[in-house]
Amino acid sequence: MTQPDCTTPSPVLVWVPGVAGTVADGSEPFRIADADDPQLLVTDLVATRGDGVFETIGVFDGAPVNVGPHLRRLGRSAQLVELPSPDLDVLSRAIDAAIEAHAPVPELTVRVMMTRGVEGTGTPTAWIHARTADDWSRYRAGIRVVTLDRGLSTAVAETSPWLLAGAKTLSYAVNMAATREAVRRGADDVLFTSTDGYCLEGPTSTLLVKRGDTWTTTPASAGVLPGTSIASVFAMLEREGQSVREELMTPADVASADAAWLLSSSRLAAPIAQLDDTSLTVDTERSAQILAVLKGQDPQSA
Ligand code: PLP
Repeated sequence: MTQPDCTTPSPVLVWVPGVAGTVADGSEPFRIADADDPQLLVTDLVATRGDGVFETIGVFDGAPVNVGPHLRRLGRSAQLVELPSPDLDVLSRAIDAAIEAHAPVPELTVRVMMTRGVEGTGTPTAWIHARTADDWSRYRAGIRVVTLDRGLSTAVAETSPWLLAGAKTLSYAVNMAATREAVRRGADDVLFTSTDGYCLEGPTSTLLVKRGDTWTTTPASAGVLPGTSIASVFAMLEREGQSVREELMTPADVASADAAWLLSSSRLAAPIAQLDDTSLTVDTERSAQILAVLKGQDPQSA
């Protein structure tokens, strides 16, 4: 991934003290802040415990994609970690303010963050951070993926809900460590597997597999994050009359598929060109359609 260079427009920060309806004097419960100034207290529980939830939203030519699904998922993650319910209308307006304040760029990445707040206050901290997206073009052309055992079974959500499988929490150190392990092994990304031998998801992405006219992803009940991107792609495929389903797949199932992708809101569609030692076909036509739909565009124009 290439980091933005020094000609990249400055990021925008919107601080949202009223995320849980805690500011009610008639003014907007958020304000634009200086993204280069320190803002977060060292006693915030996200800094001391990684205790919070977040979302990453893609914005293409100024238009954010799937804001409603992202915010609803933030609400669900907050509920799973017993944070107060975020005011989704406030967050939606704060996201718009961040996008508006940012210089126009083709691709913007907007993070919506909500933490348990400063220790002892019981008041969540929240902010929106908008910045020029990383250059994902290399990944969109095809990636090498290694399977890595996540150490959890597909029954984890039922047997051990306190592990928060399927919640988008701010404890991503494990996901990032897995990505570094993939790079050490000469790959670009990871496909997590379960202890009972099934494919789960990437550290920041959802698995999509094509076999004939049937498209499959991992069931959310296996302890994976319910992706907003897969929902958009499945809706497009269903409109086309293709068959879509959630079903557990082994690495051998994926390796022998017609094509497979890892989907996410900012990187969008990364076709799997290699899974462990097996090469897969990159379906460039389908990749272009999926990319378009994830950018919020008409897939027929791809
Ligand atoms: N799974 C995990 C663990 C993720 O972190 C993400 C996104 O960051 C996804 C799946 C894909 O979700 P979405 O398509 O909503 O971006």
